[in-house]
Amino acid sequence: MKTAIKTIHAREILDSRGNPTVEVDMVLEDGTTARAAVPSGASTGIHEAVELRDKDKNRFGGKGVLCAVANVNTIIAPALAGKDAGEQEAIDRTMIKLDGTPNKGRVGANAILGVSMAAARAVAISRGIPVYEYLKNDPRYLLPVPMMNVLNGGVHAQWQGADFQEYMIAPFGAPDFPTAYQWGAETYHALQAILKKKDYPTAVGDEGGFAPKVASNEEPLELITAAIEQAGYRPGKDIGISLDPASSGFFQDGKYELKRENRKLTAENLVAYFEKLCATYPIVSIEDGLAEDDWTGWGFLTSVLGKKIELIGDDLFVTNPDLVKKGIETGVANSVLIKLNQIGTVTETLDTIALAKKAGWGINVSHRSGETVDSFIADFTVATGAGKLKTGAPCRGERVEKYNQLLRIGEELGERAIYAGRKAFVR
Ligand code: PGA
Ligand code: ZN
Repeated sequence: MKTAIKTIHAREILDSRGNPTVEVDMVLEDGTTARAAVPSGASTGIHEAVELRDKDKNRFGGKGVLCAVANVNTIIAPALAGKDAGEQEAIDRTMIKLDGTPNKGRVGANAILGVSMAAARAVAISRGIPVYEYLKNDPRYLLPVPMMNVLNGGVHAQWQGADFQEYMIAPFGAPDFPTAYQWGAETYHALQAILKKKDYPTAVGDEGGFAPKVASNEEPLELITAAIEQAGYRPGKDIGISLDPASSGFFQDGKYELKRENRKLTAENLVAYFEKLCATYPIVSIEDGLAEDDWTGWGFLTSVLGKKIELIGDDLFVTNPDLVKKGIETGVANSVLIKLNQIGTVTETLDTIALAKKAGWGINVSHRSGETVDSFIADFTVATGAGKLKTGAPCRGERVEKYNQLLRIGEELGERAIYAGRKAFVR
């Protein structure tokens, strides 16, 4: 069998923040070699699958991943040797069983995901087809709206920027993906010029967006709206704005603490704040508006804004089908963020997407703040017809590599490519 697994070898590499992560090489019987690298978050949800780290303070401050690497090389590799990499679900289920815990805490989601992605890529290469074609489970070839995080705050901007973690631009009004990417990059540079004029530093945060010490969490919205106009586009018509406050990060003792604004808000107060922002700025979606375990607050948020904008659960759902199911059944949120490493296998991620699609929910594939140059998620977004991909600013190699891969895919697809545009946003 051409696609039988011959060898699997993992190693420790560094991610975009200089922290160790797992890279996997897989060789098939026919000689095909494929490589995959695993990303890593900073504002991780507490219900995410376990990212195994060594906790040896003498190496990388405890962040080494030699244990996860060893688990690939000594537990997963022998168990999968000779198995057909083309049986993605069987491969993934075997690893889930090998781990045996509900959260992949024994073998590690970082170990498992590296192998899961490498298997998909290896089979695509062996068959001489692109990864988006091999994994394709949507009738269309939908190129996503690039959700570009142009202003970073929260834990992605260590020097105390905004409390809200991400301010993204969504160039949904563009006729095609390359034009959307261009509009986004032009707006990014207009924003840089505006910041410079205000004497704000233009150093960037973890995801390539600027990270100025703004006066409030509203100020970035003013700055970005001005940047859209300065670049020559219409806010809300050509380019919308999306927020990821990552509210679990500033939720404490039942209150949302906005340090920048020196105030503590209840869930109701924060929802009222979002409502006001939505009335003033062209906001099309809010991700993690409330904290991961604040289901009551989330229900309220959905009742107030759920018919007006897309409400995306990231930490709330952690790409977990059981949690997404709970959201659908209880009317909480109307969209899901998809991060492969939150759940740990390609198969389970596809299950979560299928569930969300069936409910008519929005789908947003996402990078992590700690990334590598692996552009698997670009192909994955096209394969699943997700319609939106957030992978940082149009800045920094590990971020633009994903958007650049979409350019290549679009070129390859030619007339068959459809740009997702405004329709990709639910409400
Ligand atoms: P993370 O942040 O990758 O640092 O967890 C991304 C997000 O919250 O969407
Ligand atoms: Zn998020």
